[in-house]
Amino acid sequence: MQIAFIGLGNMGGPMAINLVKAGHSVKAFDLSQDALAKVKAEGAQAAASAQDAVQGAEVVVTMLPASQHVEGLFLGNGNLLASIAKGTLVIDSSTIAAATSQKVAKAAEAAGIAFIDAPVSGGTGGAIAGTLTFMVGGSDAALERARPLLEKMGKNIFHAGGVGAGQTAKICNNMLLGILMIGTSEAIALGVANGLDPKVLSEIMRRSSGGNWALEVYNPYPGVQEASAATRGYTGGFGTDLMLKDLGLAQENAMTVKASTPLGGMARAIYAAHSIAGHGGEDFSSVIKMLQKKG
Ligand code: NAD
Repeated sequence: MQIAFIGLGNMGGPMAINLVKAGHSVKAFDLSQDALAKVKAEGAQAAASAQDAVQGAEVVVTMLPASQHVEGLFLGNGNLLASIAKGTLVIDSSTIAAATSQKVAKAAEAAGIAFIDAPVSGGTGGAIAGTLTFMVGGSDAALERARPLLEKMGKNIFHAGGVGAGQTAKICNNMLLGILMIGTSEAIALGVANGLDPKVLSEIMRRSSGGNWALEVYNPYPGVQEASAATRGYTGGFGTDLMLKDLGLAQENAMTVKASTPLGGMARAIYAAHSIAGHGGEDFSSVIKMLQKKG
């Protein structure tokens, strides 16, 4: 299949490479020459622009940082929709506002282009291994067209509902993750302040009613789990600033539908303070630093 892939960062780069490995012809574009060079070295064709990348494409995949990038590319100065042929399928895997997905999808539909939102969970490790979870919003027909490609980049594919539903599912999950990482950090910090061994306490809670995903595979206390970001000095995971973005999207969404999300709001404020204190680039589990006794 002829595929255009736009946005080749930490996630998009390895996803595009997995499509190349599956035998697809991938024409890739990124504003960063370094990012472009990495996928070119793995067999993708380097496009001179986004407009160039979509020429002849049957499917266009985008993996960009935030709402303004996606809207800007498709509808703004880029006006990429005008360069995409009728009948093409667009898969946007960026984590953005559901309202932006719906706005772009509406314009795409008017131009005879199919659109699905397909944000992912699973981090850079999942992107490299091709084991991402896709949360899809869009029609059954568009999802079935996308499925063979999504299966080359991911392991679990969920159909959350109509356009935007994938984004909503993604922010609900990440709001819960942000909250549970703070709660887990608080509990471990309290135990350690009382002289408990963080490893022993973590194991007790993991096997008790407080057990959760952070305690299973993402312990925020350094040294408790060999493979955790905490043990690597909070590097190479899911950044505080990306978590902050997702918690902001959750709050915007909650305001739109008048939902009450008090813990989500508090979690956003805590990650914002953590980011301002200089930890925006560290893994989000470093939030435990705010809650630990110093010295
Ligand atoms: P990133 O910053 O590493 O990559 C984004 C890429 O998009 C950059 O290379 C940038 O140059 C490029 N870009 C921006 N605007 C562009 C444009 N107009 N045209 C072409 N290229 C453009 O980000 P990432 O970590 O790959 O994340 C991408 C998305 O995936 C985000 O929405 C993020 O929230 C989401 N996500 C990330 C993770 C993670 O662990 N990193 C996990 C799940 C979801």
